[in-house]
Amino acid sequence: MHYSQFADQLRCQHCYKTHATRRWPVNGDQVPFYFQKETGRFPLTVQCPHCGKEWYVVWDQNPGVVMELTI
Ligand SMILES: [Zn+2]
Repeated sequence: MHYSQFADQLRCQHCYKTHATRRWPVNGDQVPFYFQKETGRFPLTVQCPHCGKEWYVVWDQNPGVVMELTI
């Protein structure tokens, strides 16, 4: 079972609307992360359903493998 308290509150870095992702690293909630237009050391690419553009959630330390979230 894989849950995140943050994965449904991502803020698009292009249009600044909030959206969710279904894929999230296993330790993504425990390791500090931030939102940006540029990729980074441990990035998760997300696509905004509002404007259609891609941006990145980036962790400075390895947050583990990316898995489907349990809904
Ligand atoms: Zn957007």
